[in-house]
Amino acid sequence: MLSKRLFSLIAVVMLILLVPNFPSSAASNEKSFTPEFFSFDHYPSYEEMNATIHRMAENYSSIMKVFSIGKTWGWDPITNSYDSPRNIWTIKISDNVDKDENDTEPSILITWHHAREWIGPAFNLYLAEHLVEEYHTNDTIHWLVDHYEIYIIPMANADGYVEDGNGNMSNLTGQSTGGWRKNCRDNNGNGKLDVIDKWDAEGEGVDPERNWDWHWSEGDANPNSPTYHGPHPFSEPVTKAERDLIISKDIDSFVVIHSFSAAILLPWFYTSIASSHRDFYYSLGKYMAERTMLDGNPARHFSYGQPYQVIGYNAPGGSSDWVYGKLNKMAIAVEMEPLYGNFFLQDGFHAKPDKIVTYCKDFYEAMIYFLEVSNTKLKPKDEAMDQPSPYVIWGHVKDNQGNPISGARVEIKNEDNGDSIYAYTDENGFYMLNLATLHHRYNSTTNFTLIAGGETHNFRANGSGRLHIEITTPYVPEMSYIIVPILCILIAIEIRLRKQ
Ligand SMILES: [Zn+2]
Repeated sequence: MLSKRLFSLIAVVMLILLVPNFPSSAASNEKSFTPEFFSFDHYPSYEEMNATIHRMAENYSSIMKVFSIGKTWGWDPITNSYDSPRNIWTIKISDNVDKDENDTEPSILITWHHAREWIGPAFNLYLAEHLVEEYHTNDTIHWLVDHYEIYIIPMANADGYVEDGNGNMSNLTGQSTGGWRKNCRDNNGNGKLDVIDKWDAEGEGVDPERNWDWHWSEGDANPNSPTYHGPHPFSEPVTKAERDLIISKDIDSFVVIHSFSAAILLPWFYTSIASSHRDFYYSLGKYMAERTMLDGNPARHFSYGQPYQVIGYNAPGGSSDWVYGKLNKMAIAVEMEPLYGNFFLQDGFHAKPDKIVTYCKDFYEAMIYFLEVSNTKLKPKDEAMDQPSPYVIWGHVKDNQGNPISGARVEIKNEDNGDSIYAYTDENGFYMLNLATLHHRYNSTTNFTLIAGGETHNFRANGSGRLHIEITTPYVPEMSYIIVPILCILIAIEIRLRKQ
């Protein structure tokens, strides 16, 4: 009786060992992506954005949810009063989406602030669609969604967006294409948003990108100015709500989307002085920029650097500076297209709707790169000299028949100092490691070894920020470690029982 049961146990174990894993689907091609929920042939209104993201969350409820982090002042340009406090809807995309996993998974926040910079909300929606719709078809996306908690606030400055046409080009505030920049705070308390109708519309409101508590007092104190910093730091519902989300979710990395100029902006924003993590940020900026395109042309790229270098001015009281300065987390900003020189083609803040898809695609791969390295933990500023740069090593571990091996340990070792990191392959046999999570700095001549399934592969991190290493192995370490000893024990018991 007993030996029969043992025999069937052995049979089951053997079966598990022998049945190959289901092969992973090939990574999908960005060019063939067709969004399911929004056509991107026009700019979404606030209402359309909300309806769209709620529909997406319903359809992809296991990996996406939508929640409100607070309400805006509620300015309504139709009734001319503050009767419409708007929810600041926030998207979360992750596996186990209803669980807070920020103790084990790095978390990322992507937001947008300036009302007239219309490509931002459209891009945030475009990114969210990619992440949920390619979860089962793209191994990189699958890994990012499983291993990170991704928060996106697609239209944080909702009042400002509604004031500046609500996505409708014929309804802009101010003259020509200048448009509205700030939120809609009633600075003088007269119950109305007073607008001075100039090209660059002035008047009331607070600039959500000058209201953060990092060199805030160096900002613009004129309430009518387009860059007014507000009565005090975090005076605005939107900046306060974002700050609280960043703290409560322990956000590890941050991007705020702006337009236009086609540039990756790196700290510091308030000053032209270099930040302690300058080398890290410039590597990140370079690798991101290399993945951008200009007007669909893969040979041309965004620029990168501190704001004073690439857009010509400093910006005190900004969100990225606060996240980096105060919390020591990786934080940047992006100016999407068009290029500065294209502005006078009336294609500046409110780029023509037929440019939306092009501009989203042009920045998309750089954003994915940012997500890939957003598990970077910045060293304290006084140890920043030893901060390793971002660099992505990725690939699959497969057996000789090309079947993915899940749960395989992939280790990367710095041969010069013994520093190492590791990850386990997912159900697609896929792995991804970021060299910025090593303990110490390395350079382009450092010798690394990747070890997986008994195979080794030597490399140097001297390309353009990402290296693809596929591993084929006949040897399945994780399974062998567990199953071989079990089999031995079972056989030993069987032999003893037979002897009895
Ligand atoms: Zn902006």
